[in-house]
Amino acid sequence: MGLQFHETVRGKIFFEHQLPSLIKALNRFVDVFEMKEHHGMQEEPEEKRMIALYGKMQKIEGFKNLPCPRCGKEMRPELADNSYSRHEPVYICSDCGTDEAFMDTQGDVMPPDEWFLNSFKQEE
Ligand SMILES: [Zn+2]
Repeated sequence: MGLQFHETVRGKIFFEHQLPSLIKALNRFVDVFEMKEHHGMQEEPEEKRMIALYGKMQKIEGFKNLPCPRCGKEMRPELADNSYSRHEPVYICSDCGTDEAFMDTQGDVMPPDEWFLNSFKQEE
């Protein structure tokens, strides 16, 4: 306890090396998913696609314990113990769930490009 996930050695490695390369790999797959799933639909901004893709990754066994895509904090090991976003097809930490609910009461939504996940977006 005490230390935040990103302050631990494992967290540091994750955020500085594993997550950026994961995001890079995801970016390469985005177009494939896009063609398969949004065929004939209006094109969504890349930030939204990244979040949707992350939502799929969360359900893959090998990708357990991913940080919250909205704020970067550690999430509960069981996906269902976290919050499901009201606006994007992805699980977020319960703090973010509360924050989303609060922002909703203000008629406000955090834009996808301000999500933690999208702060790692890299240009090829
Ligand atoms: Zn969060």
